[in-house]
Amino acid sequence: MKLYYDLHLHSCLSPCGDNDMSPYNLVNMAKLLGYDIIALTDHNSAENCESAVKIGNDIGLTVVPGMELCTSEEIHNVCLFPTVEKAVEFSRFIKTTMPPVKNKEEIFGEQLIMDTEDGILGKEEILLTLASSVSIDELPSLVREYDGVCYPAHIDRESYSIISALGDFPDTLGVNAFELTPNADENEWRKKYPALEGKLLIRSSDAHYLQNMRDAEFTVELTENSAQALIGFLKGE
Ligand SMILES: [Zn+2]
Ligand SMILES: [Zn+2]
Repeated sequence: MKLYYDLHLHSCLSPCGDNDMSPYNLVNMAKLLGYDIIALTDHNSAENCESAVKIGNDIGLTVVPGMELCTSEEIHNVCLFPTVEKAVEFSRFIKTTMPPVKNKEEIFGEQLIMDTEDGILGKEEILLTLASSVSIDELPSLVREYDGVCYPAHIDRESYSIISALGDFPDTLGVNAFELTPNADENEWRKKYPALEGKLLIRSSDAHYLQNMRDAEFTVELTENSAQALIGFLKGE
C-alpha cells in the first residue's frame, strides 16, 4: 500500500522544538495534513515517543518511535525503532554517551516530556543537542541491536550532515537509505555521491514548529501500515 510519510519531526522535547509541538498537537496535525505514517525524532532522546505512539493509536495514525542522533562527528542520523520499548531502551543508552552538560532553558529552550493530553511529565536536564560519543561507523550496527534502522539525515545541509562532516558519503557505511530536504535535487546528489546508488531516498520535513509541518506529499510502498513494515523496508528486507 502507498503511504504518505514524514519520518523526521521534533517535539517540545527538542530544545529547538516549539513548546506547541506537544505529542498531542503534532500527531493530530499530521493526521489533518493527510499523513498515514510519521516518526517522532527528537534530538538524542525518545522520551516523548510513548505518548506520541499512544495518541497515534487513538486517532488511527502510525507513529514510529525514533530519534535524531548526533554522532561524535556531529552528523545527524534518523534512527527508527519497531516499538516504544526498544526506542526508549536505545534512548537511555544514548544518554550514557552524552556529555554531562545541563540544558540552559533561557538560552536553548525547554525540553519538555509530555503525556497524551499536553500535561507536563517532566523535563530532560541534559542538553540534548550536543554530540553523543557514538561514531558514525558504530551507529548502524548499534541501532540494529535494538531492532531499529538508521540513515543519515538531511545530507544536503551545510551543517550536521554526513557530507558537511566527512566531505563524502562513505560506501562502507552500513545503511540502506539517506535523507534529503524536501526541495533538494535527487539527481544532483546521486551524481555527486556514487555511494548513494541503490539506496532509498527519504524526504522529510524536519519540522520543529507546527507551522513548518507540510501537506503530505512523499510516499512509501509498504506491505502494511506499521513501524515494523517500515523498518523492514528501510533495511532493504
Ligand atoms: Zn538535524
Ligand atoms: Zn531534525
